[in-house]
Amino acid sequence: MKTAFITGGSRGIGAEAVRLLAKNGYKVAFTYYKSEEQAMKLSEEIGAFAVYCDVSKSDDVKNAVSRINDTLGNIDILINNAGIDEFALFCDITDEMWHRMIDTNLSSAFYASRAVLPSMISKKDGVIINVSSMWGEVGASCEVHYSVSKAGLIGMTKALAKEVGPSGVRVNCITPGVIDTDMNKNLSKDDLEQLKSDTPLGKIGKTEDVAKAILFLCSDDARFITGQILGVNGGYII
Ligand code: NDP
Repeated sequence: MKTAFITGGSRGIGAEAVRLLAKNGYKVAFTYYKSEEQAMKLSEEIGAFAVYCDVSKSDDVKNAVSRINDTLGNIDILINNAGIDEFALFCDITDEMWHRMIDTNLSSAFYASRAVLPSMISKKDGVIINVSSMWGEVGASCEVHYSVSKAGLIGMTKALAKEVGPSGVRVNCITPGVIDTDMNKNLSKDDLEQLKSDTPLGKIGKTEDVAKAILFLCSDDARFITGQILGVNGGYII
């Protein structure tokens, strides 16, 4: 039985991935930060191991990985999913906002990947999946810091896939489009309608659409796939 570790598993896409991987026979660990109640509920519901962790902090991530190793054994699959979004004009982005965004969305993936890779490399087997965003591919106005953090994940995916491929570790990236989660709860009805009509498939994605892509990339069916950027966006970006 393989062990999967999902950052930001307390809500949204991460919680759906926690459920789907557990249902498909993986041992699952996930982090929560502010949503302790939801995390505990999910943990009880499916028997996954919930660990408190602020992914923007290197030591927190290191400690979370070591607690998971102690409890469930070495991590076979890492899903770097935790993230935040924020709207601001570029000139209004403060140093603090910039660093919080980059640390939470990008440095977190560096910290977690660095912590799990030694055991994957020595086993010559492992999977890392980075949850980026379509805005990391094409850029979003008023979300420059978010777009930069997500573009960084795409760059990390490609470079790391080349470095660790010979050691049997696959690294891939998913770039979701607009998905129905708390992250988009502040969008107005008009904005959502506009986003739907700009999407060739004419709808907003569901968390399970992304979780199913994660499940596929984790599985052996994807054994010849690495360094790839998989858009799950209803065709918004083609
Ligand atoms: P949600 O806002 O629903 O959930 C975000 C998750 O990230 C929560 O579990 C939250 O934990 C966790 N998180 C946030 N900050 C931290 C932190 N400092 N340390 C640890 N965990 C943290 O977002 P989504 O599910 O929508 O997003 C998941 C990923 O998908 C993100 O990386 C996002 O950028 C990406 N994405 C989402 C899209 C969408 O339309 N929804 C589109 C494209 C990409 P807690 O609540 O416990 O604090």
